[in-house]
Amino acid sequence: MSVVTAISPADAAGTPISPLIDPFARVISYVRVSVTDRCDMRCVYCMSEDMNFLPKRDVLTLEELDRLCAAFVSRGVNKLRITGGEPLVRRGIMGLFRSLARHLESGALAELTLTTNGSQLANCAADLAAVGVRRLNLSMDTLDPDKFRAITRWGDLAQVQRGVDAAQSAGIAVKINMVALKGVNEDEIPRVLEWAHGRGMDLTLIEVMPLGNVEAERVDQFLSLSLVERFLSERYTLEPIAFATGGPARYLRVKETGGRLGLITPHTHNFCEGCNRVRVTCTGTLYMCLGQDDAADLRAPLRASQSDELLHAAIDAAIARKPRGHDFIVDRRGAKPAVARHMSVTGG
Ligand code: SAM
Ligand code: SF4
Repeated sequence: MSVVTAISPADAAGTPISPLIDPFARVISYVRVSVTDRCDMRCVYCMSEDMNFLPKRDVLTLEELDRLCAAFVSRGVNKLRITGGEPLVRRGIMGLFRSLARHLESGALAELTLTTNGSQLANCAADLAAVGVRRLNLSMDTLDPDKFRAITRWGDLAQVQRGVDAAQSAGIAVKINMVALKGVNEDEIPRVLEWAHGRGMDLTLIEVMPLGNVEAERVDQFLSLSLVERFLSERYTLEPIAFATGGPARYLRVKETGGRLGLITPHTHNFCEGCNRVRVTCTGTLYMCLGQDDAADLRAPLRASQSDELLHAAIDAAIARKPRGHDFIVDRRGAKPAVARHMSVTGG
């Protein structure tokens, strides 16, 4: 009989501390932290044009975010993704990255990364690399400047491309995220794929998720990646590979380009079984599942005491009710979004 021994994380004094394990025996090792709900773009699938943003007093300070992240790291979380809204528009955000880098130096954190729209990356890439960011995800749904403006409403493709250049020059591996939008960018997928792979970047396609009300009908935006995969396989040789980043994507190797193609298919394939993550919003609300409404307030315990005891108790209580998974449905009958909050609130 073989005995598998889990290595328990320990605090600075070497005292073992309990890892975060949910009711389905999934170890929570990955936290996505949204540091702001604000953004300098208004992507049509993510936000409505006139969004109401949170009042500043509700948003955690950078010091509070730092403490919250440290609490998760002390419980065995070894991957942190900083996201938003647009994380790089939050004032002082590089100070948070610099502070979080101590967990990379201690070895507690295996990866500190971010998801960005790239608008501020030309200025930030070198600093991000200097604090130890080795990879980042960048959202780009088209290579056509006019279409880019139409999808993001406010974005400038050339500025984002300067950000891609800066990240690559700084030695950061860039993965491109592209939301597949019916009738908008579906015909451009091969072009974006060849561009990304030509520059040594992975490409991940994402199905639209029904998160929050936006002006467009979700059913009009939704493009099944099963169809896209079929279409791409007529053009390219797609080979399933076992590559995994700790994220929900399923990966294929595109033989002709040599690059990797990730598919995030929350509708057509269930990506919940191996879920190892939770998300925290910029107000300190912990969501145990992207597609469910249940949440736990971590701001109150964080602000109630300088010690982290209450915070850990709140985290434990929340992880104990992490659901098995979500159930997104996009159709005209269910006109309401699956969950009311926008992706920019929960953090992608
Ligand atoms: N602003 C950054 C960005 O755009 O990369 C980070 C936050 S954004 C919410 C994170 C990711 O979520 C982006 O790749 C975006 O395309 C994706 N996203 C936003 N709303 C979505 C939705 N309703 N369905 C699927 N993906 C969505
Ligand atoms: Fe902003 Fe990112 Fe949402 Fe676009 S997807 S509106 S860039 S938060």
